[in-house]
Amino acid sequence: MSTQNTILISNWKMKLSVAQAKKLAIAVKNKKTTQAELVICPTFASLTEVAKNLAGSQVKLGAQNCFWEPSGAYTGEVSAKELKEIGCEFVIIGHSERRQYLKETDEMIHRKIKMALACGLTPILCVGETFDQRQQGAKDYVLIQQVTQALQGVEVGSDKQLIIAYEPVWVIGSGQAIDPLEAANTHQVIYQSLFDLFPSDIVKNNFRIIYGGSVDQTNVADFVSLEKTSGVLVGGASLKIDEFSALIDSI
Ligand code: PEP
Repeated sequence: MSTQNTILISNWKMKLSVAQAKKLAIAVKNKKTTQAELVICPTFASLTEVAKNLAGSQVKLGAQNCFWEPSGAYTGEVSAKELKEIGCEFVIIGHSERRQYLKETDEMIHRKIKMALACGLTPILCVGETFDQRQQGAKDYVLIQQVTQALQGVEVGSDKQLIIAYEPVWVIGSGQAIDPLEAANTHQVIYQSLFDLFPSDIVKNNFRIIYGGSVDQTNVADFVSLEKTSGVLVGGASLKIDEFSALIDSI
């Protein structure tokens, strides 16, 4: 695994207005930390305003989605190239909310990953099982399928970085994270899938695996201290500066 700093990615979903996103971005920018690489992912509509206000800081910018074509007649979509142009370094791809509500398939996700990499963005690929899949004993199978279908055939040069976020769907927004030991075992399953797809030096140097799902200040340390876990993806607990600040301090 990559030996970079712990990465803390905050997904603001569609929960803030542009004015609120700007205010929160400034507060995050003023938060001093040497413990973590901070990435914030506001909505498309807030990206430019947030980018302006993050200028000159260590805090990095990510988008919550991108389209798989470089440009064209795709009304309502946003290209990876534009995201790069306005200062994004990261892009979340395949979040379970998009898989569920927008019917994103593994094929779409695969194409988005390729486009993001081609445009110089670091994809944050989200994978995770639903409660039903888990109850049927299909969790590992589902994860291996999601990782394989998203990444098989993707060229990952030594100049590229990818992040895989394991997010059990049933845990997101529930207020109850999974046992860190289970996250550790699951990250091992994902790690093995990566070894089955890519040369070992690429897996070790160019991929990071993180955990997401009800991470907060009380449990973040348990996740970031896991051996194969490079950081966390945080939703709800990143929306208020006091809470987010306490979470950062707990790493
Ligand atoms: C998410 O939506 O990616 C997420 C991790 O949300 P929460 O932290 O609120 O569970």
